[in-house]
Amino acid sequence: MSSYDVDAVIVGSGPNGLVAAVTLAEAGWRVVVYEAQDTPGGGLRTEETTLPGFLHDICASNHPMAMASPAFRELGLEREGLAFAQNDVPLAHPIRPGESAILRRSAAETAAGFGADEKLWRTVMGTFGSRWRQLGRAIGNPLRPTPDLIALGAASVWPTPWILSLLRDERSRAVLSGLAAHAIIDLRQPASALVGVALGAFAHGVGWPVAVGGTRSIADALIARLGSLGGEIITGTRVSRIEELPRARAVLLDTSPKDALRIAGHRFASPYANALHKVRYGSAAYKVDWALEGAVPWQDPSLEEAGYLHLGGTAEQVIAAERDVAQGRMPDEPFLLLSQASLLDPSRSPQGKTAFGGYAHVPFGFDGDITDAIEARIEKFAPGFRERILARHVMDPRAMEAHNANLIGGAIDGGMPDFRQLIARPRLSLNPAETSDPGIFLCSASTVPGPGVTGMPGRLAAQLALKRLG
Ligand SMILES: Cc1cc2nc3c(=O)[nH]c(=O)nc-3n(C[C@H](O)[C@H](O)[C@H](O)COP(=O)(O)OP(=O)(O)OC[C@H]3O[C@@H](n4cnc5c(N)ncnc54)[C@H](O)[C@@H]3O)c2cc1C
Repeated sequence: MSSYDVDAVIVGSGPNGLVAAVTLAEAGWRVVVYEAQDTPGGGLRTEETTLPGFLHDICASNHPMAMASPAFRELGLEREGLAFAQNDVPLAHPIRPGESAILRRSAAETAAGFGADEKLWRTVMGTFGSRWRQLGRAIGNPLRPTPDLIALGAASVWPTPWILSLLRDERSRAVLSGLAAHAIIDLRQPASALVGVALGAFAHGVGWPVAVGGTRSIADALIARLGSLGGEIITGTRVSRIEELPRARAVLLDTSPKDALRIAGHRFASPYANALHKVRYGSAAYKVDWALEGAVPWQDPSLEEAGYLHLGGTAEQVIAAERDVAQGRMPDEPFLLLSQASLLDPSRSPQGKTAFGGYAHVPFGFDGDITDAIEARIEKFAPGFRERILARHVMDPRAMEAHNANLIGGAIDGGMPDFRQLIARPRLSLNPAETSDPGIFLCSASTVPGPGVTGMPGRLAAQLALKRLG
């Protein structure tokens, strides 16, 4: 007779917690997941935040990382009905009113719009794009270097401005800087372009799709798979101490380092606890959703077909805005990341209307109100935007953290993804999910390979638990 109530307890039901739970349940383990909020999913939640019938993704909206991730491909969630939608224009980057750079699925067509940089973009990004599968595998488990990872590192380990100095066309420069800005770090740091080159490659390789029905469909599919394997999810329960949990062979924490310490700090040896204490969190997100009459009235019609937009201006403006945010200053014109999910998935809004939304990069813990500045920036590129607003819903960094305890100070990264914290996440180890306690594993974006809906931290942690304790 087993002395355990279950085989594994997972704390937190974000993509990583759910992927970990499914991985363990598929191996025959009895699994229970505890979730602080009333609805599971973490960064995968979609809600009618503005008006009934308008579906808004609260956190993750576009899924190049999920598409390229070995974890999601191996799980085959299309069997649970998960479907993605996209078109041929993953991304647009308005530079100034009426002038934009467009990133298309095809690297060659994209490059054709980049003037003097045509050959460089086609060769480098086209090659990385064609190897998205190998790249997804390499990034998913970066501590086992492959030739693709080494090539990606060689191309992007430099500070972003150094890489931009190789490009001559302002459109390619703007697109690359906007992609790199997804890391939300000072782009003058080494390796700051890594995220940008990878996201650009995935845009060419797999696109930047949205999940049909909202990002919550990814959570729904994982939950359905878990249920079919006998796994259980208990919502509305914020775990404070490991002793509150059922007795289990393994506890996997899909939490922030801060909550990992709260829950199990007394079980950790001091070097590991210190590593968690020392995690530096990055900049934050200030999120706005809008219900619109009609579509966004973009001045440049080429923006109408883009699934995602970076409103950042020139590369120099993007770099300056990210520098300010990293240094704790709010730039006059925030860098905006906007998803036109309704365009790709019309089920998200009533006919003739648009569910629109996105976020600005703001300093960690920022407590100001920049809704007006955000709308003013959009209005510049889309005159008449404000007149189309039927309703808006705003979440500042404090509201983001209340929505999801992992978003410390509104930071979306689980630990700033700078060079050091990408490799030592949360400390240097060939098995970064392991803690100093053999029965406790970290499985959130705070471990390797880091933020994004990849499911890989969860997959790797679960595989390690199976190997060690199975
Ligand atoms: C505004 C925003 C936009 C984003 N856009 C994208 C995007 O377009 N594409 C993309 O790939 N990624 C995006 N991301 C990043 C992505 O959402 C995260 O990297 C991902 O969700 C991390 O997954 P996770 O499982 O580690 O944690 P999370 O998704 O953060 O989930 C953690 C869960 O654990 C629960 N929890 C925490 N502590 C406890 C506790 N003590 N007890 C019980 N439950 C607990 C939380 O309530 C939460 O449900 C975005 C994030 C934000 C905030």
